[in-house]
Amino acid sequence: MKSLLIIGAGMGGLATGIYGQRNGFATTIFEAHTLPGGQCTSWKRKGYTFDACIHYFGGGSGQTRHDAFWQELGALPCEMVETRECASVVFPDGTYVHDYYDLEKLESHLKALAPDDAAVIDAYIDGIRAFLGDDRFSKMVVGSFWEKLTFLPDLIRRRTYFKHTLGTFGERFEHPLLRQAFPLLHSSLPDFPLFMHLVKHAHTLKGDLAWPKGGSLTIAKNMAAYYSQLGGALQYRQKVVKILTEEGRACGVELEDGTQHRGDFVVSNADGRKTILQMLSGQYMDKRIANYCEPNPDHAAPFAVSVFLGVKRELSSYPSALVVFLDSPEIIAGVRCEHLDLQIYGFDASMAPPGKSVIKIELFSRPAYLSGLYHDKAAYRSEKNKIAEQVITLLESQFPNLREDIEVVDVCTLHTWERFMGGTQGHNNYPHKPFNVVKSVLGLDQTFTLPGLKNFFFVGQWATSAGALIMNALSGRTVVQKICRQSGVKFRAGT
Ligand SMILES: Cc1cc2nc3c(=O)[nH]c(=O)nc-3n(C[C@H](O)[C@H](O)[C@H](O)COP(=O)(O)OP(=O)(O)OC[C@H]3O[C@@H](n4cnc5c(N)ncnc54)[C@H](O)[C@@H]3O)c2cc1C
Repeated sequence: MKSLLIIGAGMGGLATGIYGQRNGFATTIFEAHTLPGGQCTSWKRKGYTFDACIHYFGGGSGQTRHDAFWQELGALPCEMVETRECASVVFPDGTYVHDYYDLEKLESHLKALAPDDAAVIDAYIDGIRAFLGDDRFSKMVVGSFWEKLTFLPDLIRRRTYFKHTLGTFGERFEHPLLRQAFPLLHSSLPDFPLFMHLVKHAHTLKGDLAWPKGGSLTIAKNMAAYYSQLGGALQYRQKVVKILTEEGRACGVELEDGTQHRGDFVVSNADGRKTILQMLSGQYMDKRIANYCEPNPDHAAPFAVSVFLGVKRELSSYPSALVVFLDSPEIIAGVRCEHLDLQIYGFDASMAPPGKSVIKIELFSRPAYLSGLYHDKAAYRSEKNKIAEQVITLLESQFPNLREDIEVVDVCTLHTWERFMGGTQGHNNYPHKPFNVVKSVLGLDQTFTLPGLKNFFFVGQWATSAGALIMNALSGRTVVQKICRQSGVKFRAGT
């Protein structure tokens, strides 16, 4: 029986282990941390669950290829919770713009707010309807390359939706609040492609995208349990420091405690830069790989700082995703903010003790700003406190006397992520290359191997360049398919 040594139990590593076991390989996952899941995580503080990851999870309706894929991985069953709005935006005067999933409610709400924009509102709702009818998107992500190609004519027919971002589409509205609100509907990323937003909206409306009750760690724990059930060996607190090679072939790993493990294939779910430059001492690089290892640009990154608040207040009537416009711009975490992005978890009662709720505030920041502070622990701590204080003060305009009800505050930065899962620049551990969303969805332009090194593969974010659970779990399936082909084994996806 051939063996696979897997570095890291993130989505990519766990999926590699599961498909590896199912295809007759003896697999071991070495995980540096004490938990599975990597970025797919959440944690408890005084009865509150703080979830760092999932906003939307593709799976749960039982109808789509996404579901079938997650079931192959044992990630489900897991109770799924639906939310009312895709996102809402509230302005200082108290006016709300809601992006309701329900299309009738959405239409009447937007037209009551901005009757002169009826034509653009109709175009938006038609766009959502255009992606409602079938499971094409899920097949485009999870299907085979040839299956994806069969969708090309359909994509061409819907090309009108591909030329806009949320930002450029927002410019079509006359009403000033809609013009301001639209670019922010997906995590305040105006460059987010309109078609992705429409797909997300349509699939959530059908129940295909939902929230896994209890949070992200449930998904990871389910997968880890399933992996063990299949006979895989998941070893925690086992940090890999070196990949062993012989005659241009990966043949084992060395752990921090000096022990060595030999295997036929090595798969890294760890940060690409650390794998290439440290674990392999930079020996397997050409110009392209050297470029990928350059630091990523130091611009303000989303989700760079998250402030979690445990509050003794029932917030289930609030939107699940809320953008709060500030009276005036404020510098927070070194970046000028005009609004705050909130996740309010009142829709999942399991996230907090009865009658209480969790609010998460997601902020942009520059990686260098945070790492600059980290060298001085006291300065870093004081900046985190300052950020939390600023945010709480600003939120009091929408949530009067909020401070009095706050029981727990927790602040997580890119540095927390770097400590937690070893990524360079925290969770921004992507190769340094332009990102193309269409190529990413189609599974093109991925980096699984290194020049001159046989029997070695990457899975996860370094391989896919995608910050998405499904893409990174899929990379595990792709790599096991490659290993099967190389080993003369017929690949089996399901039981
Ligand atoms: C704030 C935030 C919000 C997100 N929201 C969503 C969302 O709504 N929907 C969505 O689909 N995706 C979301 N994502 C993205 C998604 O979580 C990630 O893309 C995905 O989890 C990454 O998986 P991965 O396979 O790259 O592994 P990672 O999560 O990067 O895990 C790598 C694992 O390897 C381990 N490791 C690293 N180095 C070593 C070593 N030397 N030895 C042993 N083990 C090691 C780490 O401890 C870790 O467990 C979000 C991510 C973040 C950070």
